[in-house]
Amino acid sequence: MAGPGRHFLQIPGPTNVPDRILRAINRPTMDHRGAEFAEFALKLLDRTRSIFKCSGPVFIFPTSGTGAWEAALSNTLSPGDKVLMYETGHFASLWKSMAAHLGLEPVFIEGDWRSGIDPSKIANQLKQDTAHAIKAVCVVHGETSTGCTSSIKDVSDVLRDGGHPALLMVDVVSSLATADFRQDEWNVDVAIGGSQKGLMLPPGLGFNAVSERALEISKSTHMNTGFFDWNEMVGPNSQGFFPYTPATNLFYGLSEAIDMLHEEGLDQVFSRHQRHGEATRRAVSAWGLENVCLKPQYYSSTLTAVMMPDGHSGDAFRKIVVETYNMSLGSGLAKLADKIFRIGHLGDFNDLMLMGTLSGVEMGLERAGVPHHRGGVQAALDYLSADT
Ligand SMILES: *Cc1c(COP(=O)(O)O)cnc(C)c1O
Repeated sequence: MAGPGRHFLQIPGPTNVPDRILRAINRPTMDHRGAEFAEFALKLLDRTRSIFKCSGPVFIFPTSGTGAWEAALSNTLSPGDKVLMYETGHFASLWKSMAAHLGLEPVFIEGDWRSGIDPSKIANQLKQDTAHAIKAVCVVHGETSTGCTSSIKDVSDVLRDGGHPALLMVDVVSSLATADFRQDEWNVDVAIGGSQKGLMLPPGLGFNAVSERALEISKSTHMNTGFFDWNEMVGPNSQGFFPYTPATNLFYGLSEAIDMLHEEGLDQVFSRHQRHGEATRRAVSAWGLENVCLKPQYYSSTLTAVMMPDGHSGDAFRKIVVETYNMSLGSGLAKLADKIFRIGHLGDFNDLMLMGTLSGVEMGLERAGVPHHRGGVQAALDYLSADT
């Protein structure tokens, strides 16, 4: 990136990688079959559970979030199985397409891309499924394409209250370590994560946090899994090893990220994200712009997606911002392309970084000739300085 000072990477992932993590990664790669690695990896695999709040195994693959979706589906299901999915936005739609591609039969509950999950719609589908043909309910916790977050506890309650045996799989790629997530308490069977969002790492790791029930089911399913086979991981992982070369240097970074999250405290991490979400929404409404997310119950603490006024291009606006202020904002995806922009306020982020970000947006709106009111930055500043 040209110009002095730091680039502002305010897309909702990959996020700004803190210096501590960059330094942790910047070490010689060690022998992944040696004793030193085994000791390190055993501890790391165990400590990773504290982020998912789970007691079952966490499998870590050298892949992205998309690979971790495939791992979750292909380990637990068989061709022709019905899976219930919910159209919260682009990521839910991609996951559904992948399910169809893998030979599953997704049942897709339609959504408007401006709200989170209505659990009663899942309840209705499950109630009709008296034969228990639906083998899994797959939902996205934080829908990064729209800035809408859903209540996973409510989805989980629907499954439990209806007595339906389907597995619950949750995409937490952008919500992990940015919003509260409790795998065990919410009876989530597979949580799917990625390294480059709340975990503050570069891209390259995909996670499956797995319940004992899901692991048991995976032993008798019939989809072809090779690289992503959990059952190939279990044995080696129990000794601190992997069935193939793991992303050793990203593991150093992951270890550092877990330290950082616990030093701050996960609850503090979540409330910091909530606070920045609230400050951002105040700025957006002071600008007179519209939040993509329509209802407060779904507001995201991870990112805020903003509607462009009619006749104005989100991509043209973002181009001016990056060229003038050296800040990357998130684009609109799929049917929201060019209609919105997204402000990532997640990961290694503080009040002054948020104020810099919002200043860049406000100056960019002015420069791009996008109709707005001034005072968004001031509204955020007032909120942050009153609420410490
Ligand atoms: C980023 C993201 C993904 C995709 O992850 P990749 O690492 O790009 O494959 C999936 N789901 C959600 C909610 C995401 O934010």
